[in-house]
Amino acid sequence: MIIVLKPRTKADDVARVEQLIKRRGLDTHIVVGQEMTIIGCIGDTTKIDSKLFEVDPSVDKVMHVQEPYKLANRAFHPEDSVVDVSGVKVGGGNLALIAGPCSVESVDQVMEIARSVKASGANLLRGGAFKPRTSPYSFQGLGLEGLDILCKVREATGLPIVTELMSSEYLDIFNEKVDLIQIGARNMQNFDLLKQLGQVERPILLKRGLNATYEEWIMSAEYIMASGNENVILCERGIRTFETYTRNTLDLQSIPVLRRLTHLPVIVDPSHAGGKWWLVDSMAKASVAAGADGLMIEVHNNPEFALCDGAQSLKPKKYDELIQEVAQIAKVVGKNV
Ligand code: PEP
Ligand code: MN
Repeated sequence: MIIVLKPRTKADDVARVEQLIKRRGLDTHIVVGQEMTIIGCIGDTTKIDSKLFEVDPSVDKVMHVQEPYKLANRAFHPEDSVVDVSGVKVGGGNLALIAGPCSVESVDQVMEIARSVKASGANLLRGGAFKPRTSPYSFQGLGLEGLDILCKVREATGLPIVTELMSSEYLDIFNEKVDLIQIGARNMQNFDLLKQLGQVERPILLKRGLNATYEEWIMSAEYIMASGNENVILCERGIRTFETYTRNTLDLQSIPVLRRLTHLPVIVDPSHAGGKWWLVDSMAKASVAAGADGLMIEVHNNPEFALCDGAQSLKPKKYDELIQEVAQIAKVVGKNV
């Protein structure tokens, strides 16, 4: 952090600001120019509210040279993190293929979809049991019954399960039964929930908030990590823009940016980004080409009658064709499939 003082600040005032900095446990390096004095702050500034320095009448501005996150920062952990999801490695040179219905509807539905996506190459099964719906009149998910269905299908297929946790009420049950706990876009900044995730042993899939900046998203990962759980996977799922033709706008740039800023795996959910099944193919391929560590795709055996998100769900045959092509792209960018 660098503190720029107002032009022609007197030595007494420089000394006062220096004391303010030292009282917060930092060292200083002072550069006195002809007109300007700047003070370099040395030490861990992540826990300091730098805005408070601007209260001093001699301070012109405070500039950050370091990001406010540490544990998630690539600068302190140059190699890619690899997160182990019940034996499936996510990150590094691996491509995670998460697929399944938006919502768990019945054993037969999830079983049929799981078997087909597994045959296509998927290595993790998704399915919502607790659903965050915009309308209280929409299907809210089967809740714990849905979770039991996912567990049954895992037993039958061997696919580890990914499902969304909306409330800490079910934290212990999820920690016991769910292989990868998903935190949805709407809860990305539910800080109490994030802190509690630090206590679970299961890895966390943290989706990007509807309008979250990269820094806000990484800070949410930092919350989980600072609370004790470093196994976090980030998931880009589109952000809200002025465009209404698509459900959201897929931010492909987030992939190289996040891979530069953090060492955490970054996967992409093209289904919730576009909101239309025919957009999934091109956006999934583009995401892998851009360096994504995995894809989360909604697949339904009967999308016309899906209880949630049928319009963006691929039929199993389309998913199969897509994954064959994705495998080729993955090879080109050096990922194992
Ligand atoms: C989901 O993946 O089921 C979901 C609700 O996604 P998001 O939180 O990204 O809207
Ligand atoms: Mn959905």
